[in-house]
Amino acid sequence: MRNLLTVEVEEYFQDEGFADNEDRRNWDRRASHVRTQTLRLLDLLDLRKRRATFFVLGWVAERDKNLVREIAARGHEVANHGMSHRLPETQSPREFRLDVRTAKRLLEDASGTAVTGYRAPAFAVNRRCPWAHEILAEEGHLYSSSVCPPRIDGDGTGQTTPWKTGSRRNILELPPLSHRLTGQNVPIAGGSYLRLLPLRAVSEAIAAMNAKGAPALLTLRPWEIDATRAGSQESSLVRFRHWVGVEEFEGKLSTLLKEHAFGCVRDWMAKSPYESEDHAAPGRGERAAV
Ligand SMILES: [Zn+2]
Repeated sequence: MRNLLTVEVEEYFQDEGFADNEDRRNWDRRASHVRTQTLRLLDLLDLRKRRATFFVLGWVAERDKNLVREIAARGHEVANHGMSHRLPETQSPREFRLDVRTAKRLLEDASGTAVTGYRAPAFAVNRRCPWAHEILAEEGHLYSSSVCPPRIDGDGTGQTTPWKTGSRRNILELPPLSHRLTGQNVPIAGGSYLRLLPLRAVSEAIAAMNAKGAPALLTLRPWEIDATRAGSQESSLVRFRHWVGVEEFEGKLSTLLKEHAFGCVRDWMAKSPYESEDHAAPGRGERAAV
């Protein structure tokens, strides 16, 4: 079964552990590495003949339209990661709509392709922003990958396979891969979990998801294949979560791409429109008030 590879195109300092503590106005003062890291990732995907969905941050697209163009030109899907990596729940519905609309237009202009997918920062569409899916559908998105299923890492729904949501059930939500480990539903699709777990455990989780008839969705950030960027300003916990396993990750990713079939969401949706049971997810039945 074809699985789904997704990438969040952003700088390492835009991760939540940093963004919580840092004024976004400082971002332009930092050295940018996202172009170099993304091109390196694109080369790896070429080598393995795999396509991915790239959720590009509007902040990056504003500064480097050619990078967005390059991603699309190399056969990958360009999708929406909002403008400035703000959690939906920290925005009003009106602000959220403006954020996703602005980023979508920017990415469509830069890529020359329709942008139909959205990923919230930190998979943070939850009960505190029940209007999010409705707004995404109204703004022309066909799918979202923005809800973390395991309850241990926030207030996810517990749903591990895709489901349709929104008041008209017209937007598909694609949760990141999770797997039961030590009695808990652990989000292993990306981040420190994916970097630390043995390859065998990741492959088992992919097989278990495929056995449910659903694709396994993995996610990564371009900085995760660049160990030279390890920062020194963050707390030790943030430093651990952010950088652990980075040195070995490119090799591990290369093996995963070799051993499993991966593609982008756009191609997968075109070939196998997903029918699922409805699910009481955030946003269901809620009407956006803006
Ligand atoms: Zn992100």
